[in-house]
Amino acid sequence: MSSEPGSVTRRNALMAMGVWGTAAAVGSGAQEGPASDMASADEHDDFRRELELLVNQTALVDTHEHLPDEEARLRGEWVPCDDWGVLFSHYIDSDLVSAGMPEDDLQQLLARDVDPAAKWKLLAPWWPAIKNTGYGRAVRIAMQELYDIDELNEKTVARLQNAYESVRRPGFYQRILVEMAGIECCHVDSLGSFRESRQPTLLLQDLNIVGMHMGPDVQGLAAATGKEVHGLDDWHGVIRWWFEKYGSYAVAVKSQAAYRRGLDYEQVPAEQAEPVLKRVLEEAPVSAEDRKLLEDHLFWYAVEQATQHELPVKLHTGYYVGHNYMPLERLAGNPAQAADLCRKSPDTQWVFMHIAYPYWQDLLAVAKHYRNAHIDLCWAWIIDPAASTRFLKSHLLTAPANKVFVFGGDYIPVECVLGHARMARQGVVRALWELVGEGYLSRGDALELIEPLLRGNAHRLYRLQAKIERLRQAPWA
Ligand SMILES: [Zn+2]
Repeated sequence: MSSEPGSVTRRNALMAMGVWGTAAAVGSGAQEGPASDMASADEHDDFRRELELLVNQTALVDTHEHLPDEEARLRGEWVPCDDWGVLFSHYIDSDLVSAGMPEDDLQQLLARDVDPAAKWKLLAPWWPAIKNTGYGRAVRIAMQELYDIDELNEKTVARLQNAYESVRRPGFYQRILVEMAGIECCHVDSLGSFRESRQPTLLLQDLNIVGMHMGPDVQGLAAATGKEVHGLDDWHGVIRWWFEKYGSYAVAVKSQAAYRRGLDYEQVPAEQAEPVLKRVLEEAPVSAEDRKLLEDHLFWYAVEQATQHELPVKLHTGYYVGHNYMPLERLAGNPAQAADLCRKSPDTQWVFMHIAYPYWQDLLAVAKHYRNAHIDLCWAWIIDPAASTRFLKSHLLTAPANKVFVFGGDYIPVECVLGHARMARQGVVRALWELVGEGYLSRGDALELIEPLLRGNAHRLYRLQAKIERLRQAPWA
């Protein structure tokens, strides 16, 4: 049978990329879509293998993570516990609560002083409900590839704990990120201002501007500068200090202020912001309207600095991490406000993160229309894998292909980045393969898109080669 060797090869290729379990789902898609420019279904399957091979051989630039340095992780920092519960500590914990897990049980699952073997009983009632979500899938791929655990259950949990410990050792970042996930470098948002990473060319850092404009974080940001802050000029000086010190080393500027407010930043003059900052410094009461004036003014001050330093500005848009608090109406406003930002500062390169999920169609219109609008699929493949595939297909048929970044794991535990990276690669393959099958792209068109989508777009916008050269000279490198 001529199809036998093909299917064996395919299975090997799929195993090599860790897409266990997705093969059937993906394969069934072959029968659904019309293969208009395909001689036969077999040929279409062959082309899928070709796509998979090239996607798997192409290095990924990972444009968004929250990874601590490996040294910090090995000291047990940044994670609530240091056993297999870590795999359930980020994102998937929200699915567990949403599924109905009592918060006390979740605390136990993530606690340091609970026997790892006893943790399975806490998870077991909820695991069937969440194991197929994007968050669940990323964890399962990680467990399968890192620990050779196909099914998590009471029989395998002891093996999982042993395997977790044997993987979590010095060098495991290099092994997981580079050797297994095929990532050439990550952008890391430390959620502080800027981290002098001990792995500077693997974990490139964003300069975070939340503290510069929200609050602002006078205590946190002024201390390092040695400056005293008595008024707006002083605070501008603090912001400039951060850009002068780290602007040439940072890969981008990042703000997740959309968790606390809309992106409706007005260009407020200094005269209006000055008296508000005075009241903030005196710890006097400040109205919400006045606080917005100050935030708006400081946001634009920081964005102007970013633009002068040729740093793209990445903004959180769309879905919120966590559970039981998201005001969906505010999120719905993000794409229209993103368009306003593009118009207000045409020289700034804006990157809108997380495809503004679930409002990705609106955001796509922004990327199509504005030269300075880019969209990052970071986090999206695990929020909603199917919608992310639809987004990428739409983007490629709608907006220029040089304005989309296809992967950011957005994780704190490095183990889960592997699962997410696999899902992103599968998603890119699926989107391109379906577009060819539907007659939108030729095979050549699809193959040509792989390098720019996985790495070329990020290299160009973030000028990664120059950045990495610069980071090699960093005093902390
Ligand atoms: Zn993030």
